Amino acid sequence: MDAKTLQKIKEELVKRQASIEKELASFAEKTDAEKNAYVSRFPEYGSESDDNAQEVNQYTTNLEAERILEKSLKDIKNSLKKIDKGDYGICKYCGKEIEAKRLLIRPDSSACVACKRKLQNQK
Ligand SMILES: [Zn+2]
Repeated sequence: MDAKTLQKIKEELVKRQASIEKELASFAEKTDAEKNAYVSRFPEYGSESDDNAQEVNQYTTNLEAERILEKSLKDIKNSLKKIDKGDYGICKYCGKEIEAKRLLIRPDSSACVACKRKLQNQK
């Protein structure tokens, strides 16, 4: 992969990382920056039973969002680490280079299209 493409991907990753961290911060507290651990805040709408039901609903939604966002954040940080180490864009299954086209769309991909397809077919 050429340096220009890599730079573009890195910028995209940094941008995504910032937006995910912002989204997480809107409903969760960061508890461990090193491990990217967040804990969802329990929403406070009021003390009526309607409010309580809404709070529980919202909290459940937040927990699910927290889980997904934490995972994305982890993938992004791993990709950035790989860029720094110089082994970014290598498929973790076959060791070949992942297509730049794919990485530009999904910069946190860790598998090439062929391996991904094989995995999906196994399911
Ligand atoms: Zn592969």
